[in-house]
Amino acid sequence: MSNAPAPSSPSAPLKLFNSLTRQLEEFQPVHPGEARVYSCGPTVYNYPHIGNMRAYVFADILGRTLSFKGYKLTHVINITDVGHLTDDADEGEDKMEKMARAEARSIWDIAQHYTQAYWEDIKALNIRQPARWTIATEYVPQMIAFAEKIADKHCYELDSGLYFDVSTVADYGRLARAQTEDGEGRIEAVEGKRNAADFAIWRKTPPGEKRQMEWDSPWGKGAPGWHLECSVMSGEVLGFPFDIHTGGIDHREIHHPNEIAQNQAFCCAGGLDLPANSGARVWMHNNFLVERSGKMSKSSGEFLRLQLLMDKGYHPLAYRMMCLQAHYRSELEFSWEGLGAALTRLKRMYKVVAVQMWKQFEETGQPVDPTNAYLPIPVDKWNAADKTGVLKDFSDALSDDLNTPKCLPLIEEVLGDKMIDNALRWHLLATMDQVLGLDLLRRNRTDLRIRPKSVEITEAEIEATLEARKAARAEKDFARSDTLRDELAAKGVEVMDGDPLGWEWKLA
Ligand code: AMP
Ligand code: ZN
Repeated sequence: MSNAPAPSSPSAPLKLFNSLTRQLEEFQPVHPGEARVYSCGPTVYNYPHIGNMRAYVFADILGRTLSFKGYKLTHVINITDVGHLTDDADEGEDKMEKMARAEARSIWDIAQHYTQAYWEDIKALNIRQPARWTIATEYVPQMIAFAEKIADKHCYELDSGLYFDVSTVADYGRLARAQTEDGEGRIEAVEGKRNAADFAIWRKTPPGEKRQMEWDSPWGKGAPGWHLECSVMSGEVLGFPFDIHTGGIDHREIHHPNEIAQNQAFCCAGGLDLPANSGARVWMHNNFLVERSGKMSKSSGEFLRLQLLMDKGYHPLAYRMMCLQAHYRSELEFSWEGLGAALTRLKRMYKVVAVQMWKQFEETGQPVDPTNAYLPIPVDKWNAADKTGVLKDFSDALSDDLNTPKCLPLIEEVLGDKMIDNALRWHLLATMDQVLGLDLLRRNRTDLRIRPKSVEITEAEIEATLEARKAARAEKDFARSDTLRDELAAKGVEVMDGDPLGWEWKLA
């Protein structure tokens, strides 16, 4: 193992907040020049809500930053299609079984449907594909092998399953900063557990029952525990120890401490004073997106999923922008006003790009093809290419534990700086947008225009009305022109005289 420095870059070294030590730490890859990252994926029993998607926007920014800084990234996200109970701490039913019953469909159907829906949200939010999606049910033999390896020393069998004895590893719960006995009474429901925090790594199918998903094992027919899945998939694909493990802050309390305990047992390693003993050197957690009215709950009728935002006329990238405006470790409160403001900010950026490109076209007579003509500037060329020094500031902001709120004004600075030569402007934006993924040079402002579901009028009808209005104005019939504008307004369309875009949906 080597503590290789980050690939040469003129900016500050990358520092990330490690939940294990509760400190900012300079990133030191396990394998020189590489970064191996595992993110806890969704349990695919329902649509993801936008809070869940915040976790993947965060993981995406982390991955893009590592690539930007020159590391060869291997990112893995899992799909949990078995084993996650309704209570993270070993109680309740399997979420997938429960949903399958409620919808009278097979679990495999449910898993396929909601995995697809999740992948659509990933795409809509411009989240890069990881190197691997690992599907839990495809790793069951490896899970059994892992459990067999640790069973003798660290587990005991009860009627309901194979349990992990948390007293057999050093420092159990350090990640959560758990006061060992405190607050864990709620986990004691399983009779015979040695410690309140012990958890099932294999859940046996009760006698006389048949589960839709079950496998043979040395402990009888049953299914793996959710914590076991992530230990196995991360270790299998990335190798222990790997660099960074991510998840939402709720995972810091139970899921990740349990993964860490299993990893310690599997690697035969001691306590957590050596962070590598936990399986990953760095554990990172995004804070929650919160919504006060309860619409984030998947059990509420109209819960906050990305499709709902689109139905109301908000482009998914407005939500990405909203996430980037907050630091990932801060709680982010959702509001429609906040989302509207994020959309407006993004539209402004797109508009300045369009205006500047139009000017360039007028000056040169050459159509501007920003995507292909203006590539990101490689790290080793920053000093020579970037006279403004903005890339160093941008990279420093990312080095400061992925401070995206500090990055956004730098983009605006580049957009607004009249002294920068246009070609350099596009190269700078291409470089920064590699990380932020706002598609600044790839899309037009019209792409952000999504028809709200409640609006009946079609875009063709709007264009026709605008033509009629233009004719009325040419004839100086301003009364008719105003009437047509009011008619459009009543149908949710705002006419913006003087704006090259011409019209916008009025969002509620
Ligand atoms: P789940 O499908 O419940 O396993 O959750 C998928 C991911 O979303 C996990 O990393 C969770 O920690 C994360 N998560 C859940 N709720 C929120 C929220 N409100 N805000 C941000 N992340 C969340
Ligand atoms: Zn996990």
